[in-house]
Amino acid sequence: MNIAISVKELYVSYFGNEALKNVSFTINEGNLVGIIGPNGAGKSTLLKALLNLISKDKGEVQILGKSIKEMRTKVAYVPQRSNIDWDFPITVIDTVILGTYPSLGIFKRPKKVDKAWAYECLEKVGIAELRNRQIGELSGGQQQRVFLARALAQKPEMYFLDEPFVGVDVTSEETIISILKELRDSGKTVVVVHHDLSKVTHYFNQLILLNKELIDYGAVEDVIKPEVLGKAYGNQFPSITATEVSV
Ligand code: ADP
Ligand code: MG
Repeated sequence: MNIAISVKELYVSYFGNEALKNVSFTINEGNLVGIIGPNGAGKSTLLKALLNLISKDKGEVQILGKSIKEMRTKVAYVPQRSNIDWDFPITVIDTVILGTYPSLGIFKRPKKVDKAWAYECLEKVGIAELRNRQIGELSGGQQQRVFLARALAQKPEMYFLDEPFVGVDVTSEETIISILKELRDSGKTVVVVHHDLSKVTHYFNQLILLNKELIDYGAVEDVIKPEVLGKAYGNQFPSITATEVSV
């Protein structure tokens, strides 16, 4: 089993405030991993640090044994929906075609074949009929599907998604998770920031439990125990019941 992601002694801070402290873990290829933890735990920061979108104070990150700079085109990132400018005037299909740009090269124009591939990716997420709409006109679930299609269009080895189910309808959520599971089963590595504990046992096979420091990491059934979760959530740890965690 190859190591997909390796993180060693990662430290990140914003203006002197520590957001991540001494985080180390490895993830093998072919896993669907949830990053969980309370608000402000550094979940989004961890994704961004893995992708080199923010600077680290210290630490080393390797993606498939190489630096992220060498692996840039092999990873797809779907940011939190709330951080995307939905007023940007672009159609659904063009948003997806942009996902193929790393393989196109900067100065090449998309060809028919890229358009056909983008269409296929939109079909996969079930919204090909919306291809000529402006992204700002879509519902939350439809927007999230567009960004998943865009990630698929890139044909990466690894997927990073930040809170993909927030503000998303149930059908879109089910479509998205079943595609992520399919990717995992085909050997890809998928990492998802997720704050809702109620479905984690159905969604992920591994969990990273974070609260600035790495609290725990491993098989979902080992992490999702009240005594483990309590270390991260403390008394912010309300809604999950014993029956939910014993799955
Ligand atoms: P999570 O995704 O787990 O809710 P974040 O990674 O977004 O947490 O944030 C971790 C901590 O870092 C929080 O205290 C947050 O306020 C702070 N933080 C995040 N982004 C910035 C930023 N751009 N500037 C300053 N502080 C930030
Ligand atoms: Mg976040």
